[in-house]
Amino acid sequence: MHETILKAVSNTSIPQGSPCTHCGACLAVCPVYDILRTECFSPRGRSHLLTEIEAERLPLNTGGRFFEAMDACLQCGACSASCKAGEDTAARVLQARTRFKELHTIPKWAWHLLENRRLLDWTLPILSLVPQNSGLLLRLLGLFRHERDALRLRIKPAFKTAIDTITLKNSCKICKSSASLAGLRIAFFIGCVQNYIYPRVAEAIAAIPGASLCIPKDQGCCGMPAWTNGRPDTAKELALKNITALRKAEPDIVLTGCASCADMMRNHWPSLTGSKGIGRVMELSQFLVEYGIVPALAPKYKDMPLYAHIPCHQRYGLKDTTSLPSLLTGLTNGKTQVTQGCCGGGGLFGVKHTELSASILQKQLQGILSGNKGACVVTTCSGCLLQWRELSKAMGMPIEAVHLAELFL
Ligand code: SF4
Ligand code: SF4
Repeated sequence: MHETILKAVSNTSIPQGSPCTHCGACLAVCPVYDILRTECFSPRGRSHLLTEIEAERLPLNTGGRFFEAMDACLQCGACSASCKAGEDTAARVLQARTRFKELHTIPKWAWHLLENRRLLDWTLPILSLVPQNSGLLLRLLGLFRHERDALRLRIKPAFKTAIDTITLKNSCKICKSSASLAGLRIAFFIGCVQNYIYPRVAEAIAAIPGASLCIPKDQGCCGMPAWTNGRPDTAKELALKNITALRKAEPDIVLTGCASCADMMRNHWPSLTGSKGIGRVMELSQFLVEYGIVPALAPKYKDMPLYAHIPCHQRYGLKDTTSLPSLLTGLTNGKTQVTQGCCGGGGLFGVKHTELSASILQKQLQGILSGNKGACVVTTCSGCLLQWRELSKAMGMPIEAVHLAELFL
């Protein structure tokens, strides 16, 4: 199979239905190809595979390799952004995930659970009692591959969700105060990871001075996991529920501390649902920069080398590579560096392809730790935070990983 694809991609003819010229520029930016060095796991190889299958020049029963190639894509978007010929490999892989049910490995009940936030609220604390290294959760989700993978998944849902904690503290269900920021109404979209795993991050955002937030109680998952796993119907269902919940707050701005949620809300909700008008979606670092809000850095971070990790969804989805670095540079008098490339998280990719995901992170860690005994990585995406914090810990790396908002606690 590998040889067939190599032979096919070195052929000078341009496949029908694809603008790809086989130049190979995308190979240099693909984090998966960077580790595997196998053509069918490169953007060019995936694109060619799809073209050949669509044109029925390759049979679909190509063994596991075709499906593996479609599954082992982070959906980071780096290939599409780098292609001068206009090939959107990330989108084509996503289409394949939607089309081929062989790629739908996560059981339907898990997606239904995600659609029902109330059910999820009481199910997750129960699931948190399952020993984290038993592999049971992975088995339930149909994602179990190797015994060693189970050891890496040590994520414990918090007992109380951030939505409940913050609204209890603020003793309001929908906050009506929005006097700061020139009377703007700001709705806070929390996202699953902050709601269930890192409520401290959501609390830190809610405590940022000057930003008076409404917290719509009926919000849930933004739909990004469903969307990137070829489940547009689930993603649409989630988007519609959120849009209804957010509209009740009549926001001028929808603020979120997760770049992936912001990408989903800004770039995919309108085309999925046909709905407009939930206000301007802003990721936290963009919001702080645009409104000139600069909270004080907590003392413990003052002398620590800080590394800004720009999430792929911020870099390629929101097309923003400046907000986080410029904010951190200002806070540290220029002592901030920027990590290059993807951390290997990619939502469910990190769970499905643990070894590969760890190898991608390892490359990032090598860059940061050469010459440093330890460092602090700052990011603006919940998925990246999970990857940097939990996987570095499991790998025994001396890295502290924080969300931008935690710098101000
Ligand atoms: S997808 Fe674009 S960048 Fe990649 S080989 Fe084809 S033309 Fe070149
Ligand atoms: S989306 Fe990312 S992981 Fe997937 S093929 Fe493109 S560069 Fe590679």
